[in-house]
Amino acid sequence: MARKEEPLQMRIGEAKQRDVGKKRARIGPEAMDFLKVTPGDIVEVMGSRSSCAVVWPVDEDEKLPDIIRVDGQTRKNVGASLNDFVKIRKVTSKFAKTVSLTPLNDTVTVDKEFTDFVKNRLKGLPITHGDEISVMILGNSIDFKISKTSPKGVVKIDRTTNLSISTETSVDRKVRVTYEEVGGLRREVKAMREIVELPLKHPELFVRLGIEPHSGILLYGPPGCGKTLLAKVMASESEANMFPINGPEIMNKYYGETEAKLRDIFKEAKDNSPSIIFIDEIDAIAPKREEAYGDVEKRVVAQLLALMDGLNDRGNVIVLGATNRPDSVDPALRRPGRFDREFEISVPNEDERFEILEIHTRSMPISDDVDLKDLSSELHGYTGADIKSLCREAALKSIRRYLPEIDLETEKIPSEVLQSMQIKLIDFYDAMHE
Ligand code: ADP
Repeated sequence: MARKEEPLQMRIGEAKQRDVGKKRARIGPEAMDFLKVTPGDIVEVMGSRSSCAVVWPVDEDEKLPDIIRVDGQTRKNVGASLNDFVKIRKVTSKFAKTVSLTPLNDTVTVDKEFTDFVKNRLKGLPITHGDEISVMILGNSIDFKISKTSPKGVVKIDRTTNLSISTETSVDRKVRVTYEEVGGLRREVKAMREIVELPLKHPELFVRLGIEPHSGILLYGPPGCGKTLLAKVMASESEANMFPINGPEIMNKYYGETEAKLRDIFKEAKDNSPSIIFIDEIDAIAPKREEAYGDVEKRVVAQLLALMDGLNDRGNVIVLGATNRPDSVDPALRRPGRFDREFEISVPNEDERFEILEIHTRSMPISDDVDLKDLSSELHGYTGADIKSLCREAALKSIRRYLPEIDLETEKIPSEVLQSMQIKLIDFYDAMHE
């Protein structure tokens, strides 16, 4: 009788940029031997859920034999975070006869062209029922859930698969942004993981050790450098709910009811913990006393401080505040027990710009004449948001190059044209020199 193969226990590591969205699992030679797999084979990865990935060799410099590197989406699909343990075993895939997808959050127009396009993008990837997958279309990511497959189990889409996309959208309020979406900011992400993710996921550690986790963290730096992005990533990777508050909005739109609104949000965050409350432009809520400080502001600041003081005991609600002007924030907010950790989120340097460019061009069809390293050296002073919009602009420029005459409103774009489109260096230059 054939011996049933033992699953192998491994620890989850971060994926390389080039693997994101490709369902790869990078493992070392020892793990491959144990599992009797070679690159290209498929493994089942089991965390609190189970999904599948394609085996890929680790880089030469990888030293840890028990690490399996998968991207953020795969981590979600298997229900595990970085450093969690998962079990791995070899599986074989069948060809999919039918696959049904449900769009998550986006409303899409489903026609044959669109369905063919999505099918083309997913061809060859192993998928299982319940997985979430993203398809990038000119810089925009559309997320789908695999709502049905036939046969069941791990399947691969090929030319003959009957793919259907539901016109109903499934709405889900959990944020989905993974560490691989952040370019640069290594040190900040690492430190924030310790002070945000750890207490949110393992509050018992802090109770056991008798220490209070930080309940407030202030992120400061120029606009567009990733403060909001970091807050979303922290919420997403710690499986926490995110409660966003916009400083100017809560002061103006809820004028007279600002304090009550703050209390409501904090209560909801506590009731739905683990949670991250993200206060953008916090200087509008808690300005320095010299700066237009009336009775209303005083009461609002006092309320915010009282709410923050009330959080300290558990650690399962964390408040992230963001500001472009740290010097304009009331110093009372920056005392111990309140926003007592601060991170500067600054404009990216050349290497960081390169990483951000890689992220925002990840699924764009970029022509060989574009060298992202060279390009990043020319983008001095660009923020992450600038780079993102540059990539989108370049993509739009390329559309105009291919389709100068087509009326985008009325005519259908033939699928061959869609497939053959590429974004060239000239498109980036055109976009830069607008
Ligand atoms: P801030 O909150 O600092 O004003 P955001 O986080 O809102 O900036 O940035 C806007 C967008 O710019 C983000 O959603 C992201 O797409 C892009 N972006 C900014 N910084 C980065 C970064 N470091 N890496 C990748 N993308 C970035």
